[in-house]
Parts: sequence; C-alpha cells; structure tokens
Amino acid sequence: MTNDFDLVVLGAGSGGIAGAVRAAEHGARVALVEPGPLGGTCVNHGCVPKKATWLAAELAGMQQQARAIGFALEPGGLDWERFIARRDGYIANIHAAYRRRFLDRGVHLVAARGRLLGTGRVAAGEVELRAGRILIATGARPSRPTIPGGDLGIDSDGFFGLRACPRRVAIVGSGYIGVELAGVLRALGAEVTLFARGERLLRGFDAELGERLAVAMRQRGMELAFHRNAVAARRTPEGFALDFGDERSAAGFDVLLWAIGRTPNSEEIGARAIGLELDARGHVVVDDWQDTSLPNVHAVGDVTGRLELTPVAIAAARRLMDRLFGGDAEARLDYANVPSVVFSHPPIGSVGLSEAAARERHAEVKVYRAGFRPMLTALAGGEETSFMKLVCAGPEERVVGIHLFGIGADEMLQGFAVAVKMGARKCDLDDTVAIHPTSAEEVVLMR
Ligand code: NDP
Repeated sequence: MTNDFDLVVLGAGSGGIAGAVRAAEHGARVALVEPGPLGGTCVNHGCVPKKATWLAAELAGMQQQARAIGFALEPGGLDWERFIARRDGYIANIHAAYRRRFLDRGVHLVAARGRLLGTGRVAAGEVELRAGRILIATGARPSRPTIPGGDLGIDSDGFFGLRACPRRVAIVGSGYIGVELAGVLRALGAEVTLFARGERLLRGFDAELGERLAVAMRQRGMELAFHRNAVAARRTPEGFALDFGDERSAAGFDVLLWAIGRTPNSEEIGARAIGLELDARGHVVVDDWQDTSLPNVHAVGDVTGRLELTPVAIAAARRLMDRLFGGDAEARLDYANVPSVVFSHPPIGSVGLSEAAARERHAEVKVYRAGFRPMLTALAGGEETSFMKLVCAGPEERVVGIHLFGIGADEMLQGFAVAVKMGARKCDLDDTVAIHPTSAEEVVLMR
C-alpha cells in the first residue's frame, strides 16, 4: 500500500509533533509515525513527570519550612501510588490534547515504528509512506556505560517506574538528570550518593553554579563523591555496588541510577543504511537550516544532538516548517542565548555565556555577583543562600550571561532571557525599577 504525503515525520515527541502540526497548519498533507505513546521523552519519561515529581519534592521541603515558621504540622511522607495516579492523569490529558489537535489539523497518525527506505520513502509497519519531505525527530534514549554491570540498575526512564521511595540510591553522572533526580529523591526521603567522574557538578554551566549547588546539596543531606569513575557495577546480597578505577568502591544501594547522557535514536530507523551523515556519537548531522546530508530530509531535536531541550526541538521544528511550507525563506532557529533551567534543589536558571566562555570570547569582561538568603529560608531559620551572577562584555557592558541559583530561579529567568536576546546592557538593568521584596529584584540591583 502506498500513501502520498507532503511530509512524513518520524517520531511524535516534542519536535515531531510541533513540526507535524505546524506543517499541517500551512496546508501540508502530513503523516506522523510513532510506535510509542505521544509526546516522546518530554511527556512520558522526562520534563513533565520530572517536573511533577519535583513539585512534590518541593512540597515535602515546604512542609518543613511551614512547621519552622509556626504551622502546627506534622510533615508526612508522600503516598507514591496516589501521586503517580495524579501524574499519570496529567499525562493522559496531554495525550488526549495531542489527539484532538491531530484531528483538528488533519495530521495522519500512524502508530507503527518507522524506518527510512530512501529519500521520500518511509516504512511504517506494513505500510510504505511516500512524501516530498521527511522530518527525523526520533529523539534519544538514556545511555548506559560499556563497563561490566553497565546493564544493571535503572536510568531516567526506570526512575519513572519507581512505585515507592527507595532507601539508598547511587546516582552516576553529574549533569542535568543526575542533580535533578538526586534532589528529588533526597527531598522525598531517600539517602542519596551522587558519583561524578569530574571535579564538579554541571560541567557545562558557569563553574560557580556547580560549586554553589554542591554546597546546597550537601546541606540538604546528599552525599557527593567527585573523581569517581565507575569501572564496574555489581549486584551483591546487600544491594548494588560500584567499583572505581582507583581501587575504591561503594556498596549497599537499593537503587543504582545511571544519568550519563543520551544516545540518539538514529541507527534503528535506518539512517546510516540510506547514507545519511551521522557524527561519531550517532547524531544526525544538520546544518543551520535543519537540513541533513540528503536532499529533502530534515532533522530536529535530540537526534541531532544540538541543545537537547524540548523547547529547542519545538522552536527548530516550527521554524523549519515555516520555511518549507509557510513561505518564510529565512525562518530558522538561532541557537544562541537559549535559556535553560536545571530543576535541582534549589533550581538553577542560566542563559548566555559562562564567565569562562565570555573571557575566551571577549577582551573586556566584567562580572557582577549577589548572594543572599531568600526571605522564607531566613524566616524558617535555614542556611541556604541564593546566588546570582551577571557576565557583561565590552565597554558598554552588554549582558552576555545571566546565571541564577536559588529558590525561584526557574521562574525568574524567562523574562531576563528576553533582555539578553535583545542585547540588554548592564545600564538597562540598572534603569529598571526593582520589585520589592522579591529574589528577582537582586538581578537589577547588582553593583
Ligand atoms: P548531561 O550531558 O547533562 O550529563 C551527563 C553526565 O554524565 C555528566 O556529568 C558526564 O560527566 C557524565 N558522564 C558521561 N559519560 C559518563 C561515563 N561513561 N561514566 C560516568 N559519567 C559519565 O546528561 P544527562 O543524562 O544528565 O541529561 C541528558 C540531556 O537531557 C541533558 O544534556 C539535557 O540537555 C537534557 N535534560 C534537560 C533537562 C532540563 O532542561 N531541565 C532535564 C533533564 C535532561 P562529565 O561532566 O565529566 O562529562
């Protein structure tokens, strides 16, 4: 059987759905091929259930604070089954909303695994789909280390299968997922040890953010072990054990969680077989226009390895479809100054250049810093401090980086990211009247 479409999209994750819907809005005939649940990693095993669990973890901490400031409250543990039912219900609503949108816009959903047969040709189960263009948006999956026992334990997908709070948890990896899940599990009552192979957390971020986070995580009762390169994992009668290259080991964990990056879903869709250029890690190579090495084959999102963030995949896909089907020849995503939040405890918000990157790129760099205890933390007698940093470049002190650490940083960053994108200078922040009393006001009050 052969079908004819203007566009076949492989993968109904954030990028694939955004691309399919936008193309259909421009009048294209679109088939969207997806064997799994709609929404991909973000909706099913990533941002959405993670944020829900992070919010639950925040409430656990706020119970303690409420008690400290005078509420007659006995902080209680989370009923995971009830919480998961609510989390699943929220996700089911998103699935339903997607289905309605596909019906409204005429996107033809094919619930099958897609495989590339050549330019313009995709196998989807028993069906062969033909289209003028193909969009690859198949995402990525959690990586496992190629060490003995690397297949033991769970990864971030497995985290969302937990049905109760584990007692002792080992997390390997100190990127986004490592620090986020460490914070969540600790707040919900687990004993957590995070093993980093390097010397700090969140290596891709401004160094001071990782340093501040390490202090806060330890204050919140997490153990951090740096310079621990796992060379083997074992299952013992007492639980999981990890061996490190230097004869050291750690043992007795109920849960072992790998958070060491993600592997693109490219080989299994036949990308190499049809001659598509892949990089050394298997990412589909794209240019600034999301075009691949083959004509009329495009790719967005994690499968390309360019800023593995949901909103980036969505923005890249929409602009691509505006260019291909919407008549906007110049539409493409500018990957500079993309804001990002790490939902650690406390959260981090960051946009633009780290101080180190700014010093490499600019001759003249000036840095402003602020540190303070947020009001609720102080009222509750807590020690945790928030930290903010502005990185400015050139004689006009253009703000090239904003780095926020502390309660509320997640909600604070978006507006300031607009300012950075528009080229704000330090004097523009100085000219903005503060909102008092907030944590955000510190961003415009730095001296
Ligand atoms: P990251 O790239 O953020 O971090 C990977 C971590 O694993 C690093 O600490 C890295 O160490 C370490 N690592 C890599 N290989 C090994 C190895 N073989 N042994 C031990 N440690 C290793 O990946 P994550 O898995 O945390 O997250 C995947 C991506 O998902 C992120 O990059 C992010 O783009 C996205 N994401 C975004 C979120 C958000 O927006 N809030 C939340 C969660 C994920 P080193 O630093 O030394 O290289």
